[in-house]
Parts: sequence; C-alpha cells; structure tokens
Amino acid sequence: MTQTPTVRPELADVPTGAFIAGQWRALPRTFTVDTPHDGSALAQVADCGPQEAVDAIEAALVAFDTWKLDNFKRAEILSRWADLIDEHAPQMARVMALEMGKPVTEAHGEIGGGNGYIRFYVDAARQIAGERVPSRFAHKRGLTRSEPLGVVYAVTPWNFPMSMIARKAAPALAAGCTVILKPAEQSPLTALLLAELWRQAGGPAGTLQVLAASDPASFSKPFFDDIRVRKIAFTGSTDVGRLLYAQAATTLKRVSLELGGHAPTIVFADADIELAVRESIVSKFRNAGQTCISSNRFYVHESIAEQFADAFALAASKLKVGDPLDPATEIGPLVDDQGHAKVSAHVADAVERGAAFQTGGQTLTGRYFAPTVLSGVQPGTLMLREETFGPVAPIVSFSSDEEAVRLANDSEYGLAAYVFTRDLSRAFRVTEALEYGIIGVNDGGPVGAAAQAPFGGFKNSGVGREGGHWGLDEYLQVKYVSFGV
Ligand code: NAD
Repeated sequence: MTQTPTVRPELADVPTGAFIAGQWRALPRTFTVDTPHDGSALAQVADCGPQEAVDAIEAALVAFDTWKLDNFKRAEILSRWADLIDEHAPQMARVMALEMGKPVTEAHGEIGGGNGYIRFYVDAARQIAGERVPSRFAHKRGLTRSEPLGVVYAVTPWNFPMSMIARKAAPALAAGCTVILKPAEQSPLTALLLAELWRQAGGPAGTLQVLAASDPASFSKPFFDDIRVRKIAFTGSTDVGRLLYAQAATTLKRVSLELGGHAPTIVFADADIELAVRESIVSKFRNAGQTCISSNRFYVHESIAEQFADAFALAASKLKVGDPLDPATEIGPLVDDQGHAKVSAHVADAVERGAAFQTGGQTLTGRYFAPTVLSGVQPGTLMLREETFGPVAPIVSFSSDEEAVRLANDSEYGLAAYVFTRDLSRAFRVTEALEYGIIGVNDGGPVGAAAQAPFGGFKNSGVGREGGHWGLDEYLQVKYVSFGV
C-alpha cells in the first residue's frame, strides 16, 4: 500500500515529477522515498520506465545540436546554477539529511564541495581548445579540436546525492554534452531539486534531464541499446559497474566507472598518533562510514597498536549519534535496512573469529549503529575483504613495512589508502608501492574540496577519473584536421 507522506517544509517546493525536455512531468506510477531516521515516508516520486527514457534521449539529441556550439554560454549557465545551489544550500542540506540520513552539517560540506566542481568546470568550459600538430610537409597544417561526445547517461549512488551528480554533470555540460541523470532510488529528491535549479538558471530544455526509477535495470535498457547515447558515467558498486561495462560494449560507448573501495590505513611506529587518530576519525566515520574512500581496515605497527586503539576508540565513543537534522549530530543512521544488516553481519563475523570491542558494537534503535572499534581482528574476517559501509573500524597489527604494504595491497579494490608516518623516505617508498588511485599521507581527507584533483581507482575500483582536466577529458573526443595550404 502507498503511504501518503506529510509534506515537510523543506520538501514543499521540491519537485517530484520527471524532468524531461525542460518540463516537469507527473506520472501515474510513483515510488515512496522514506527517511532512514525513522522509516517514515517523505515523498512519492515519479517512477520512470523505458518510455520516459526514450523521450529523454530524443530531447537530449535535439538539445545537443545547439548546446555544443557555445562554450561561453555554457559557462554562464553553469555559473548561474552554482549561484542558485549556494542560495538553496540550507534547504538542499536538509533534503539530503532527510532522504539519506547524512548529518545536516556534513551535507552542507558536500554541497560546498560539489559546487566547487561546478565552478571549476565553469572556468574549464571557457578554455576548451585544440592543438597545433606539426607536419613534416611544408604545405600542410594539422589542428586538433576537442569535441563533446554527445548524449551522456549518468547513474549515481545515494551516499553523496549532490556531489556525485556535480562531478559528472558539470564536466559533461561544460564539454558540451547533454546529460540524462538517474539518481539512486533512496535519494532522488536532492537530484530533482538540482534539476529545478538548472531550469531556473536558464539551462535549455533537454540539456540536463533527471529521471528517477524504482527498476533501474529496465529503465536503463534503452540507453544501452541506443548507439546515439555515447557515454555512460556511473558511480556505485563494483557488481553493478561490471554489468554496465558489459552492456556498454555492444555500442562501444565511452565509460567512466567510479566503483567500490576497501581503503587501508597504515599507521607506522613513527606516526604522530594524535594526528593519525584525528584524521582517521574523518576518514572512517564521515557519512557513518558509507563512503567509497572510507577507511575499512587499520594496519597499526605492533609497538603502538594498543596506544592507537585506545585513543581511537575514545575519540570514536565521543561522536554524537542522532537525528541527522540536528546540526550537532556527527553520525546519522545507515541508509536502509539492507545496509544495517550488512554492518551487523560484519561485526558478528569479526567477533566470532576472535576480535574484541574497544568501543561500540551495539545496534541502536532503527537503522542507527554505534561507532565501533575492534582490535585483534583475525585474517579471513569478512570486513578485511568486503566493503562494510558502516561506522566500524577493525584494527590489525603488523611488524614490518613490507608486511603492511602486502596486507594493504591484498584487495581486489584500489580506490583510496591512508598512510601515517613522519619519515619522508618511508612515505615515498610506501606511496609508490601502494596500488591505489588516491593516497592521503598524514591526511584523512585527501580529496576534500579538491575539484582540481583526479578522483578514481585502480583495479576493481573503476575506470577513468573525475575532477580536474582528467574529468573533462572523459567527455571530449579529439578530432584531427589536416589542411593543405
Ligand atoms: P549500487 O551499485 O547499488 O547503485 C548505484 C546506482 O546504480 C543506483 O542509482 C542504482 O539505481 C543503479 N543501478 C543498480 N542496478 C542497476 C542496473 N542493473 N542498471 C542500471 N543502473 C543500476 O550502489 P549504491 O548502493 O547506491 O552505492 C554504494 C556503492 O557505491 C558502494 O560500493 C560505494 O563504494 C560506491 N561508491 C563509489 C564511489 C566512487 O567514487 N568510487 C563514490 C560513492 C559510492
């Protein structure tokens, strides 16, 4: 049975239709978005299917013909979009807190960081240029043009409902592509609000379209079948990424995949322990551990393992768990019952295999889980292999640098890693040996507000990069033109 949600003030003007060809379209089919705080219904959102997908593709193709022509116009509209997002940040942060449980203070940070990407690509849009290519013949001149790929289908996860969109839509739109975005089922409201702000910023019809769907596989099929959709930009789990990679092969679409992670943190004997604890609280507990670059396993030198575990557990136990709408909250609920069940199962498995609680371990009410630190975690424990996606930190001790690097690299993933040491030579040696796309040395937030930096992973953590010029290149193709003169 469909629940009828009571409209909350921050949601009153958030659209719930499908944003197709510059218009809000109501659909007879809807699905419920709830809040992880207490499971109550927030909104009924238009549930798009293959027909809406086809309509969006047609509108995106029409829009592309004009949108690709004027870099400066694109920069102007993106800039207005960024201004409107800043203006609506307090509302957007509350929408995000409501729909996926991120503490509202953190949500503000995400919006600021995401908007940093939009502003970065405002500048980049104005600078898209070509190169002069030398010729061995005196009568020839070679030039390149960087041209947009065309229609992009972007699929985003729930854990960063704003910034995952900004990192794709901003470079794609700056490059001159048109974008059809499908947000995650758990967090479509932030995306729909972004679409409305794009409309208000003067974004032409069909340039950015946002369609939510409760059945992502059937909704997505037309995009993969249509050769005129030239790019898939995906952030989400490795399993789904692999599936989309295979589907994109038939029409040889360009693909960017930002997938799962399993970040190791290595704390060497010479580390500044206070700093390692402070930074690791950020890398582990931000978004209640539901972050692809979240530290999932801690390797600590045996000589300081106890000292680190005590200090880290004390800091974790002080984190304020509670209602995500409360500005003082540091840990909100887990996004859904499935996520909560996975975290509980990982903790039960670790304890069964001999790990001891330093702090936490309790399931609180509903989808809340207490910040948890475990020591003496044994090899073979699930959380040392799989993404936990929760506020749980397992500590394992090591005795040599080689062992630490071997343990850290022993993963199918290669997204982020963290290293704490005061020895510069060791920092160089270890960062060169780690098979990870992003490394923080004495830094638990290496990509915080870093739109200019490349974000992406090695191995099963993905294909391609977001951010910086790397992120723009993902949406451009090079044309070479030779002139006989
Ligand atoms: P998910 O893979 O379940 O879903 C991601 C998106 O894919 C959602 O929009 C979903 O509707 C869609 N989807 C699912 N099945 C699909 C299908 N068959 N066809 C088309 N679309 C489909 O992931 P999630 O649970 O939303 O997000 C968590 C995962 O995302 C974690 O693994 C996390 O590490 C990863 N993540 C990675 C990054 C990164 O930058 N590398 C960033 C954030 C999250």
